[in-house]
Amino acid sequence: MAKTRVAVIGAGLGGLSAAISLAAKGFQVEIFEKNDRIGGKLNLLEKDGFRFDLGPSIFTLPQYFESLFARAGKRLGDYVPLVAVRPHWRNFFEDGTRFDLDPDDAVQAREFSKLAPGTWDDFRRFRAYSKAQYDLVAEGYFDRGIDGLRGLLSHYGPRRLFLGMDSLRSMDRSVRRFFRDPKAVDAFNYFIKYIGSSANQAPGFMNLMPWIQYGYDLWYIPGGLYGLARGLGKLAGELGIPLHLNAPVKRLDREGRRISGLVLEDGREIKADLFVSNMEILPARRDLLGEDGAKLGKVGWMKPACSGLVIHLGTDRIYPQLAHHNFFYSKDQKKHFDRVFRRGLLPDDPTLYVVAPTRTDPGQAPAGCDNLKILPHIPPIDPKNPLMHADYAALKDRVIDKLERMGLPDLRRHIILEDFWTPLDIEARYRSNRGSIYGVVSELGSNWGFKGSKRSGDLANLYFTGGSVNPGAGMPMVVLCGQKVADAITEDGFRAGA
Ligand SMILES: Cc1cc2nc3c(=O)[nH]c(=O)nc-3n(C[C@H](O)[C@H](O)[C@H](O)COP(=O)(O)OP(=O)(O)OC[C@H]3O[C@@H](n4cnc5c(N)ncnc54)[C@H](O)[C@@H]3O)c2cc1C
Repeated sequence: MAKTRVAVIGAGLGGLSAAISLAAKGFQVEIFEKNDRIGGKLNLLEKDGFRFDLGPSIFTLPQYFESLFARAGKRLGDYVPLVAVRPHWRNFFEDGTRFDLDPDDAVQAREFSKLAPGTWDDFRRFRAYSKAQYDLVAEGYFDRGIDGLRGLLSHYGPRRLFLGMDSLRSMDRSVRRFFRDPKAVDAFNYFIKYIGSSANQAPGFMNLMPWIQYGYDLWYIPGGLYGLARGLGKLAGELGIPLHLNAPVKRLDREGRRISGLVLEDGREIKADLFVSNMEILPARRDLLGEDGAKLGKVGWMKPACSGLVIHLGTDRIYPQLAHHNFFYSKDQKKHFDRVFRRGLLPDDPTLYVVAPTRTDPGQAPAGCDNLKILPHIPPIDPKNPLMHADYAALKDRVIDKLERMGLPDLRRHIILEDFWTPLDIEARYRSNRGSIYGVVSELGSNWGFKGSKRSGDLANLYFTGGSVNPGAGMPMVVLCGQKVADAITEDGFRAGA
């Protein structure tokens, strides 16, 4: 019996996960990737003895990676080693206050004693609420792969959906219901970084994110996070999935309500029975299907999540005051969120995420050196108001000034290697919508945190996977998405043998 052929466009984590899940079900899968390596935004830079994870650096929710390997009868641990990171985060404030987030109760209580009296009690109540939000969202929206409002309503019922899930308040308003200390508010609001949105505008149930760390821990892959791409590539190879690198897809050809084939930039035509796009929904519809005007307007609600200025610094000294993961807060984070997410302006005083992986893995930099990744969230590209490289370079200077002021003295003088990516680089490399790094932004009153559907709707054999698709961005969510796409395909009646 001939096998059903599936062409996957893109070898990001969402595409790899869909490809592996479909191959494990017996489909004949082939992947076409624009770039010269797999992993998409999970990318790396190796130079002069320094190693940088260019994209993700925080690994959470290992269960959604384990379930992918289990589909192929394998164990995650045999392909991707994981070690727990301690502390989870270190938080730095302009007035010199520093405190850590740590899953150990005794350590966490001691750390919160640096803040207002009662913060530990505030946190315990908040953590219980965060767990309840996580459990509710995970048992339906995540684990059942629910895509639309109808599915959500039928699974949860209106009461659990609108009242059980914290759907009507903003994340920030809910954090403030629990914490009296403004620094604790800043730290827990900044969990929104995982999906590149604003705590002022994201729905309250996004407060499920702290439980992701406190309940399931925060992990690192020795050798660097690119080890996950290598592990998935190995598994895909064992499943016999052909992988075409440097193979950008230029066009999808329609025949009625179906896609009949894809055309590569080099002119080759590929036929398949099913197509899975790991290219985000909006760019795929615009660039591969040639949709514009009113037709594209249907996906116009998919506003991109933030982009980032991603700065990689090799320094000729170690900054021992840094933990593996660090946050340097804006003096006024509410204003910072507003400036970036509502007004679309480059931040004057951003909250900074700083990663120093040699704390867990000394081999990531030459002896006596640090490799620092610094990430302020910034607006995606605005075609009506394009910024120049010089605008981004000026922000980079403000970022380094801020770090020198807040605890990394003479940073500029100790830089021996520098690399930085602007939204223009991110868009060009991964073809994400306007250089977004986390797919679609989550906003109350707009999409309420939900993303696009796995099924294309109008085209019976086209599916989408990855950060612009439910359940959304971040490594665990896109890896879960790929698995749910494979399930949607078989639920729709497609069989591995044609
Ligand atoms: C700087 C940064 C920091 C991050 N930090 C974290 C973190 O700490 N933890 C976390 O969990 N997540 C983090 N993320 C988010 C995470 O990286 C993404 O959510 C996830 O990797 C997206 O996977 P994806 O499969 O949706 O898309 P992508 O990784 O963008 O993959 C899409 C793939 O499709 C390819 N492609 C696109 N168009 C075509 C075409 N026409 N033809 C062929 N191929 C095509 C692209 O080249 C790419 O390889 C971060 C992202 C960035 C950029």
